[in-house]
Amino acid sequence: MPTEQFDLVILGSGSTAFAAAIKAAELGKTAVMTESRTLGGTCVNRGCLPSKNLIEAARIYWEAEHPRFPGLAPMALGLNFKELIAGKDEVIRSYRDRKYQSILDDSDKIKVLQGRARFVDPHTIELDGHRLVGDQVIIATGSRPTVPPIPGLEKVPYLTSDLLTSDEPIELNDQPRSLCIVGGGYVGLELGQMFHRLGTRVEVLQRASRILPDHEPEVSSALSEALEDEGLDIRTSTKIVGVEPDGEGVVVTFERQGWRQTARCDRLLVATGRRPNTDDVAIDRAGVTLDEQGFVKIDEYLRTSVAHIWAAGDVVGPGQRSQMATPVGAHDGNIAAGNALGAERRKVDHRVVPRAIFTDPEVAMVGQTDEEANQSGLRCQCGTVPISLVPRAGAVRDERGVIKMVLERQSNRVLGVSMVGRDASEVVHEAAMGMRFGATAHDFIDMVHVYPTMAEALKIVALSFFKDVSKMSCCAE
Ligand SMILES: Cc1cc2nc3c(=O)[nH]c(=O)nc-3n(C[C@H](O)[C@H](O)[C@H](O)COP(=O)(O)OP(=O)(O)OC[C@H]3O[C@@H](n4cnc5c(N)ncnc54)[C@H](O)[C@@H]3O)c2cc1C
Repeated sequence: MPTEQFDLVILGSGSTAFAAAIKAAELGKTAVMTESRTLGGTCVNRGCLPSKNLIEAARIYWEAEHPRFPGLAPMALGLNFKELIAGKDEVIRSYRDRKYQSILDDSDKIKVLQGRARFVDPHTIELDGHRLVGDQVIIATGSRPTVPPIPGLEKVPYLTSDLLTSDEPIELNDQPRSLCIVGGGYVGLELGQMFHRLGTRVEVLQRASRILPDHEPEVSSALSEALEDEGLDIRTSTKIVGVEPDGEGVVVTFERQGWRQTARCDRLLVATGRRPNTDDVAIDRAGVTLDEQGFVKIDEYLRTSVAHIWAAGDVVGPGQRSQMATPVGAHDGNIAAGNALGAERRKVDHRVVPRAIFTDPEVAMVGQTDEEANQSGLRCQCGTVPISLVPRAGAVRDERGVIKMVLERQSNRVLGVSMVGRDASEVVHEAAMGMRFGATAHDFIDMVHVYPTMAEALKIVALSFFKDVSKMSCCAE
């Protein structure tokens, strides 16, 4: 069996792995990635990129039929779902070529080998007839959809959050007339609203008593209200009893408020979270310790329980307060490679990591929620204002949403911000940057903001701790 030696062997070829490989090449070291599916991993092939592509198409389609301005008449655009999917696939391929393949083409230091990688021993990885020996190793095998034990699931065809993939048989090519989604987390809601806007009848079945249960309650209710106002059917506190085939479709039986009910849909989407890809890499032969859910355990340097093996990205789950998101993995992949190859000794710092959900209105948050701040023993105070108080929202006739700020009581230091509203995914960066430098509510108040922008929401919510913000003229002064 051919054996090759590298400075760094990386399991996976997603955004985490690429960041690590690029860092290795920058340090003049050789790196090899391995890939059992498609080069580039989840984000480019079946996650962020395809979802954001179709979400935008659905927004244009929906807004044409639901104009917010008097004087604009509703207009139905034509819809060819197959062409939308083909367009999405083209965007994926082009992005994969430009952002992933081209890096390999331009580097003599980075290689990718196709096949399922498994440890033989702590330094040796085997895949499809190759043996790779790494001085250092990074595990960046990412995650895949969790499929809960729902009675009858084995008898019905179902979709997972992988449905936007391209060039794989599990890709969805036909628009379902109706879709039952099990799960009210970010994937279920982003995809649910997208299908709803394209004309699919969508029912979201959420086990918890609210959608996005790990976010502020004000966020859950503002987003629920916005989604339900546009016609999405969201049922919380549901317990799925089972699923069964019904002609071409699926019947889902669930219990809610003591009643047994059913929902019949063309297609079923199981969007109940993601699990780490650690069960098929013979991790025991490497001696790497996993947590109870199978995520790789790491220290603050991203080192695993084995000195020369490191891990980053989705595969570490919530370890070191990480988040399963592309920029977190990429940031940490770079750090892991730097640490592994002796270039630096950097800790990861996940205290201020902004994140967003691309529903419409968007959801974004950074730092701690009210509950998290209290649990960590901090004395805090919170302010919440409706987005209708932001002049920009009124100007563009989109007043949906809310913004909440959590302050440390004594110092007024900002501990967290959550927002539902237009452009929340952009606005959150100002909050994050402020928090990196220990900003207080007064820093957001004293900062002159461009008028009228959604970023003024930060200034208004900061002011709300000190005065009645419903009684201000323009420019929040
Ligand atoms: C529908 C959806 C939408 C999303 N939207 C966003 C978003 O808008 N913004 C955002 O930041 N994040 C988003 N995410 C999350 C994001 O895609 C992931 O956090 C990110 O891709 C994780 O990167 P990674 O490199 O750690 O893992 P991955 O990208 O999953 O890469 C790991 C790779 O390793 C390969 N692999 C696994 N096991 C082996 C093995 N034994 N041998 C060889 N190869 C192996 C896998 O095939 C995979 O390609 C979304 C995810 C989904 C599902």
